[in-house]
Amino acid sequence: MGLATAYHLAKDHPKRRILVLDAGYLCGGASGRNGGGVRAQWSSEANVRLMQESLAMCKDFAHEHRINTWFRQGGYLFLARDEARASELEKSVSLQRRLGLGTELIDGAQAKRIVPQLEPHGVLAASFNREDAVVFPWPFVWGYAEGARALGVDIHTFCRVRAVETSGGAVSGVVTDRGTVRAPIVVNACGAYSPELARSVGVDLPTKPHRHEICASEPLKPFLGPLVAELGSGLYFSQSTRGEIVGGIGNPKTPEGTSQASSVRFLALYARALMTACPPLSSLKIQRQWAGLYDLSPDHAPIVGPVDELRGFFLASGFMGHGFMMAPAVGKRLASLLATGETPEPFGAWAHRRFKLGTTPSEAMIIG
Ligand SMILES: Cc1cc2nc3c(=O)[nH]c(=O)nc-3n(C[C@H](O)[C@H](O)[C@H](O)COP(=O)(O)OP(=O)(O)OC[C@H]3O[C@@H](n4cnc5c(N)ncnc54)[C@H](O)[C@@H]3O)c2cc1C
Repeated sequence: MGLATAYHLAKDHPKRRILVLDAGYLCGGASGRNGGGVRAQWSSEANVRLMQESLAMCKDFAHEHRINTWFRQGGYLFLARDEARASELEKSVSLQRRLGLGTELIDGAQAKRIVPQLEPHGVLAASFNREDAVVFPWPFVWGYAEGARALGVDIHTFCRVRAVETSGGAVSGVVTDRGTVRAPIVVNACGAYSPELARSVGVDLPTKPHRHEICASEPLKPFLGPLVAELGSGLYFSQSTRGEIVGGIGNPKTPEGTSQASSVRFLALYARALMTACPPLSSLKIQRQWAGLYDLSPDHAPIVGPVDELRGFFLASGFMGHGFMMAPAVGKRLASLLATGETPEPFGAWAHRRFKLGTTPSEAMIIG
């Protein structure tokens, strides 16, 4: 998120001094550890519109940044296995179609025609948008970093921001483990570590770090077109261009915290759900597993924009399991907000002050 914002700030609103500080290496955060799923299927108009733009930007990224992103437009196939989720899915599909997506509402048998290996029993409804995609995430991080550097942005890795400094109710800079930097604007895009940095200036950011696990199998002959995602269990899996089945599953029992350890429990949960959804994969061998951190937002919506209590302090946080796909469109909008002061859609609904006002953006198509 930070690199996308820096890139767009330098490109769309030039003549500013921009510095990106990362406590680790590029790709060390969630943006380098995710499943690369990019979709426009959402249940709220704001998210569908945002992701229509982001999907188009992802598609064009390889051309703009001269880097292979392994962009594969095989679609997303969502499955609903209970009445409530089936009815939500129906509403979402009708909204998506009104907004110009070609999403189809289908049943289990039709889903099986798209993925013949699927077990259709128990699938009450499914939705398929062939425009949704899967990419390899690293080239996006590298592409934004290289693009930003070429436009004059300074990027320092292994440089942790310890605290934000203030003076007279406004941001005046940051204290890092390599010294202090003066800056009138600071964007907190620390992912799951965002609340920690916000606390350094007494800002209560109600997001929580949550480990999310994922794995990749041995390579199989290509057979799987779309990324398959189950609403409810949070199971998702796709096939990479190398033939690996890459997938994960939500595990609400994972304790809060910044551990990025892998667990056998995840493998058991994932294997059970995957074998039920797609029985021919029951003999699949897992070759690698890893984990990354979600920055969990209490109402599942991102928290983006200025903080009322402190002039010059901006947030780009709470992106849960969908911040990678949103980064292109959000980075562009956040850059515009920083440069012009005008709040673009949907940042009004994502504002930090919503927790005081008690307003909640609604979104039903959250997975993982
Ligand atoms: C396993 C997994 C699968 C996922 N799958 C998908 C998916 O398919 N599609 C999708 O859209 N999203 C997915 N996500 C979510 C997505 O990866 C995140 O929402 C997104 O990458 C968040 O981006 P970010 O820039 O906010 O955070 P990050 O990418 O985590 O970046 C934050 C950066 O801040 C740095 N940092 C932290 N503290 C400090 C500090 N004090 N000073 C300086 N730097 C600091 C970190 O080193 C890190 O590089 C997945 C996430 C995981 C973990």
